[in-house]
Amino acid sequence: MSESQNFPENASLAQIGGVLRDHQSFVLISHVRPDGDAIGSQLALGYALIAAGKNVRLINEDGLPDNLAFMAGSERIELPPAEPLDVEVAIALDTATKPRLGDRALHAASKAKIWLNIDHHVSNPRYGDLNLIDATSPATGQILYQLITALELPMPAETRDAIYVAVSTDTGSFQYPSTTAKTYEMAADLIRRGLDVGTINSNTYDNFPYRRVELMRALLNTLELSDDGVVANWTLNDQTRIDLALMPEDSEGLIDIIRAIRGVQLAVFFEELHDGKIRVSMRSKDRRLNVCEIATEFGGGGHALAAGIRMNGPLGEAKKLVLGAIRRSIAAAGM
Ligand code: 5GP
Ligand code: MN
Repeated sequence: MSESQNFPENASLAQIGGVLRDHQSFVLISHVRPDGDAIGSQLALGYALIAAGKNVRLINEDGLPDNLAFMAGSERIELPPAEPLDVEVAIALDTATKPRLGDRALHAASKAKIWLNIDHHVSNPRYGDLNLIDATSPATGQILYQLITALELPMPAETRDAIYVAVSTDTGSFQYPSTTAKTYEMAADLIRRGLDVGTINSNTYDNFPYRRVELMRALLNTLELSDDGVVANWTLNDQTRIDLALMPEDSEGLIDIIRAIRGVQLAVFFEELHDGKIRVSMRSKDRRLNVCEIATEFGGGGHALAAGIRMNGPLGEAKKLVLGAIRRSIAAAGM
């Protein structure tokens, strides 16, 4: 059973099960710029509900990214339709705040009578009618595994594979400290259920477009290390994105390269977006440096060791502000 049940603010798995059982039509949504856990969570719960005979729509503000198109069943991920869907229940997955679902997705789900909010972000403000937030879970996909198995919902191949991709991508291939024995036990169970480990990992990690490696080269040219060697950052500017015809998902996970530098405790990725906003991605290797707290100062959020911000530009100003907040956090931690 889920650790989440230790939190009284959470709905019980049985209450969530009741909502799933007593309704027929569902829309499942995840956050803008979806990653493996976002799309994986939609497919995991979506295909379990489809197999249980429900009517299910899977929508995402930004649609299905190319790098996840290998996922079985992913062709059902749609852009939000212009008109609100006639659905009884909306389920937000892996989404730390309601606005991160996107305006068009929220409009498409606006006729839903009941909102479920299933997530693992510690900063999630519990915007659902029923919430299942488990910040001890390394991925929303693992919460769904517990939900699906506890409720004895069907687990078709699409669900099985999607759970694995969700958890693998959110744990840096089962490496981050959030990975627990339960995570490995879950993976073992998925393999026993027929998951093909070699193929799914190859599709997830050995299948990048060439432009992603060109992006790596461009990013390396911007790499900066603080004098004490504790903070590394690199920057993707607008022109590079245009020159390399980059897609949003091309930078996914690259921050792990600078996070892996010996001595670096905090890695930061700055990215100029089309609209002039700046996306900031942060990773910490040290519990004393809580990047979620730093992100929250600027209206972002996430987890203690992985967090993000979308803030106003220009780039130079955003860098100065965020790197300043990081220095204060390092000083406060006495490091
Ligand atoms: P990433 O750096 O991979 O984009 O995101 C790391 C974590 O921070 C993810 O769990 C993601 O959901 C969260 N995150 C990223 N950007 C934002 C943001 O702008 N706002 C909030 N609230 N969370 C974010
Ligand atoms: Mn996640």
